[in-house]
Amino acid sequence: MIERIQVVGARGRVGSAVSARLAERGLALEADEPGLVLLCIPDRAIAEVARGIAPGPWIAHVSGATPLVALDPHERRFGMHPLQSFSKTRGPEQLDGAWAAVTAETDAARAVGFWLAETLGLRPFDLDDEGRAAYHAGAAVASNYLVTLRHAAGSLLEAADAPPEALDPLMRGVIDNGFELTGPIARGDWETVERHLAAIREQRPEFEKLYLVLAEATAVIAGTELPSDTVSQGAAGGAPKVCRTISDLRAELARGSGSIGLVPTMGSLHEGHLSLLRAARSECDTVVMSLFVNPAQFADRVDLGRYPRDEARDIALAEEIGVDLVFAPSADEMYPEGFQTWVEVTELGASLEGEFRPEHFRGVATIVLKLISIARPTRIYFGQKDAQQVEVIRRMIRDLALEVELRVLPTVRDADGLALSSRNVLLSAEERQRALAFSRALATRDPAAARKLLAESNGLAVDYLEIVDFDPRALVGAVRVGDIRLIDNMPLEGDAK
Ligand code: AMP
Repeated sequence: MIERIQVVGARGRVGSAVSARLAERGLALEADEPGLVLLCIPDRAIAEVARGIAPGPWIAHVSGATPLVALDPHERRFGMHPLQSFSKTRGPEQLDGAWAAVTAETDAARAVGFWLAETLGLRPFDLDDEGRAAYHAGAAVASNYLVTLRHAAGSLLEAADAPPEALDPLMRGVIDNGFELTGPIARGDWETVERHLAAIREQRPEFEKLYLVLAEATAVIAGTELPSDTVSQGAAGGAPKVCRTISDLRAELARGSGSIGLVPTMGSLHEGHLSLLRAARSECDTVVMSLFVNPAQFADRVDLGRYPRDEARDIALAEEIGVDLVFAPSADEMYPEGFQTWVEVTELGASLEGEFRPEHFRGVATIVLKLISIARPTRIYFGQKDAQQVEVIRRMIRDLALEVELRVLPTVRDADGLALSSRNVLLSAEERQRALAFSRALATRDPAAARKLLAESNGLAVDYLEIVDFDPRALVGAVRVGDIRLIDNMPLEGDAK
């Protein structure tokens, strides 16, 4: 049919195998008046190289993803994509038995395409230009992602001190056996799947998401269904579901089972929040983070208005930790019109912070009770950083016989000792420097020494600074740096429970 073929890119992976096969079949590989110019070049170069070729001969490319329009202005054109992964270390035998997608607009082009494929030892089939993206996606899943799977599987064998190359005959065997599905998902053996997940989380957590996505896809093939708690743990690897309404959160929680950990936050997350989320992730089946800047605990509208907010970043951080559900309601959702039911922890809520922010703990206790009522958590997580808040919640849980375990995690500090707080971003560099005196003062563990240190340093105004009989006993304080209020404390015995 055609006797002279010019292969452009004859030294590349595909080009070298194709050229060698064409030579074997006795075709002349000529740049001089070729009957066909075959472009074996990177996709991005095809259009430009095609434009530079004088019209006349047939022109074709071997790309899977590139549409024929890239061969403009040529009209005698087609695509012939060998469905194979080529290595430069091997020769034309790589073509044997592979299929080839031929895309042609005319019968004549199709005939040349099929002839070329068969001459190369390939098995041609027709592919519409419009079908290319789906076709190429399929090819990428089968070839490129097989490499990814081998990498992930090899890494797990390495974690077990087993040789990763032992996987290769196994993988070939699956192909030779016609892709017959065996293994725990085909059997519905969820206990084994759970054990896999536990080991992956422990040793190669970066593959948890991959394992779960594949497990779900495999269950569909097997006609089985992953248990919902396995899937909900799966969210540990994916984006958390964001619920804006109480009913939405309740519906999501009803789908899961096992223990629920609730971490109330006002967002603008920092390592302090993340330590609570990590603890919840390791202790609970489902982790819910609430994200709600609660207006009822801000007496000061200015403070409320300037409170830092960055929901997208918070959700991304929650995803990294494996939070399952983010509850981010509007103020109207939490305080519907006519709202008038408040929880007041009377004495405790009126002292210390309560003296300076009279309605603060009423707002805190009410919202926390409401969150507990909505999410029904097994455990609820707070930071020791807000020691009085912990004490107020502990009192409320006892007084109202709430069925929830209170977990308190230690205060997370910057390297220079400043307790992390969402409000720290509001401090100027100079104010932040001055604020360091606060944690140094608390570290004296002695109110008199602490006050002296603060008085001698650079004019932080003290609202209160005293030892209180919380659990654990602590030196607690609040200071003002410019117009930013900071609170912090130093536990005086044991760890925060
Ligand atoms: P917030 O978003 O400020 O309401 O804080 C949400 C939770 O994170 C509360 O339980 C805080 O006590 C806790 N938290 C805030 N800062 C820290 C910190 N530096 N270390 C540990 N926990 C913290």
